[in-house]
Amino acid sequence: MDFSDTAEEAAFRAEARAFLDANAARKAASARGYRSRALDAQAIGESRLWQARKAACGFTGIHWPRRYGGRDGTQMQAIIFAQEEARYDVPVNIFNQSVGMAMPTMMTWGTAEQAGRFARPALFGEELWCQLFSEPGAGSDLAGLRTRAARDGDDWVVNGQKVWTSNAHFAQFGMLVARTDPSLPKHQGMTFFILDMRSPGVEVRQIRQISGTSNFCEVFLSDVRIPDHHRLGAIGQGWAVALTMLANERFVVGEAEGPGAEDILAFAESATLDGQPALQDASVREKIADWYVQEQGLKYTRLRSQTALSRGGVPGPEASIAKLVSATKLQQIAMFGVDLLGQGGAVMEPGTAPLNAWFQEAVLYAPGKRIAGGTDEILRNIIAERVLGMPPDPRADKGIAFNEIPTSAR
Ligand SMILES: Cc1cc2nc3c(=O)[nH]c(=O)nc-3n(C[C@H](O)[C@H](O)[C@H](O)COP(=O)(O)OP(=O)(O)OC[C@H]3O[C@@H](n4cnc5c(N)ncnc54)[C@H](O)[C@@H]3O)c2cc1C
Repeated sequence: MDFSDTAEEAAFRAEARAFLDANAARKAASARGYRSRALDAQAIGESRLWQARKAACGFTGIHWPRRYGGRDGTQMQAIIFAQEEARYDVPVNIFNQSVGMAMPTMMTWGTAEQAGRFARPALFGEELWCQLFSEPGAGSDLAGLRTRAARDGDDWVVNGQKVWTSNAHFAQFGMLVARTDPSLPKHQGMTFFILDMRSPGVEVRQIRQISGTSNFCEVFLSDVRIPDHHRLGAIGQGWAVALTMLANERFVVGEAEGPGAEDILAFAESATLDGQPALQDASVREKIADWYVQEQGLKYTRLRSQTALSRGGVPGPEASIAKLVSATKLQQIAMFGVDLLGQGGAVMEPGTAPLNAWFQEAVLYAPGKRIAGGTDEILRNIIAERVLGMPPDPRADKGIAFNEIPTSAR
């Protein structure tokens, strides 16, 4: 494990800091408290402007090829920029899926025409992409999806339903995977498409989340026509294309953000428990020490992945550890903070509640983080199988034609 930047990395970090100093304000050292994750028109507008500025100065799509607007940089440089950007008060990033997942998939599988048409507008924040993968009956087992695409002349006609589609209500395009041949085993009969979200037959319904925000949607597809030149990859190659997008998702999902061990420690110094300062209680100190230890584990796991990247390797499935541990820890800290608040823990109004309802908001956000981009159980399976080398989950439907799998097991 290497803790320091190479000379090139240090030079890039200095360049990134100079750009950020010139274009954004630094977060206060003690900045603690709630920050809304709601995406209203103002938040989206600010996010677009920040994306355009980064693109114009070469600080997004850092590892993209120059011909698509990138800077031919490395994944490590992209990580360095993200580390530095996190120290500044910048708009929420709505372009992770576009720039970090959709376009890298396009560049891997698309034709030169497709990548040439779509990459730049995505990089500059002019066109936003969403990921149309999950369905009511297909999430962890994505290959069980049932949305159908049938060939009709030069078009495909798509029918089905997607769900939990982040940002679908303001996305211009979606990366869609659909079943094109149900007579093949489930991982084989799929094809991947670029869907123009403004096509007739696309109906987007926002889902109201427990936090009161509506950042993801149901998407209903009724006789939607997609021209064949918007197919990504060959017919039947949809699973391989989807895997590319999922592999890129690993870089994007990241750790859960919110109050950490230092924050709950600071709060426990002022909060009272049974009439005494909470920090005097041995069980409180024990919990905080546990979270601190977990954070140190996360820090060194992160450094291990970064060392691999810096030496030209790729981060392995151990990246799953970061999301698994950070999301669970966030939920525990948030619940504990709300408990310490006593009756005040029930107040959600940011202006009234202590720390602007930071713990309350995290209580409502953390469960989603434990599901999005792979649930806890799926991440544990990945760690067990691919990191620890344990035997794989039994897969009873392997090799069976999709339309012969009993409906209850699809
Ligand atoms: C905030 C958020 C944003 C999202 N954004 C998107 C998006 O933009 N696009 C998109 O396509 N999807 C998106 N999703 C959907 C997400 O990918 C799925 O919710 C996730 O993959 C889980 O699928 P599921 O909800 O169908 O649950 P299921 O797969 O039905 O799982 C139900 C339960 O069973 C467990 N389980 C399932 N299989 C196994 C197994 N083999 N072993 C042990 N336990 C198992 C799961 O862990 C879970 O506890 C988002 C979800 C959230 C919460």
